[in-house]
Amino acid sequence: MAARLVIFGRQGAGKGTQCEFLTRHYGAVHISTGDMLRAAAASGTDLGIRAKSYMDAGQLLPDDVMVGVVQERLDLPDVAELGFLLDGFPRTVPQAEALCALVEVDLAVNLDVAEDVVRDRMLARGRADDTPEIIGERLAAYAAQTVPTIAWFAQQDRLVTIDGVGEPSEVSNRLTAAIDARLGSR
Ligand code: AMP
Repeated sequence: MAARLVIFGRQGAGKGTQCEFLTRHYGAVHISTGDMLRAAAASGTDLGIRAKSYMDAGQLLPDDVMVGVVQERLDLPDVAELGFLLDGFPRTVPQAEALCALVEVDLAVNLDVAEDVVRDRMLARGRADDTPEIIGERLAAYAAQTVPTIAWFAQQDRLVTIDGVGEPSEVSNRLTAAIDARLGSR
């Protein structure tokens, strides 16, 4: 049966690399809300124009906008067939509640790398959009809204936390071991 997964991780935790691996491994559809919004901004759609100011400030878009975006994507037929790996959504408890009312989620995976570690990594990268202020905004939004969302999945007994520090292949092995243990041999 198709895997229906959510992945959490701070920016700089190596989530992009692991999402590539996991979508290949499980054959699921990778749904990255950040990628969708950046594509919308690049093509100048109404959503993209609206999203850009939030993204540039490191702030979250309103929940109702994001739930609409994700619902539309989940309705496409590939998702029912292949399952999904949601990346960047949900980021707030209301988003998580809306998601779980729309579809069944098998498991949420928290790719855990401490705040200090990702802050140092992002500063070392030195990208123009990674100023200390924006990095601080994003980490503050994560702490205030996404950490409680992770706890919400834990309360539902649908969370595994993986240590995200280490070689990418080592982290990949940890992820599949934890996911397979929870999903069983379906
Ligand atoms: P990401 O690449 O996942 O870090 O997303 C980039 C930016 O898109 C975020 O900093 C937010 O401004 C916006 N964004 C992406 N996903 C969400 C979401 N689930 N809720 C609110 N804003 C989001």
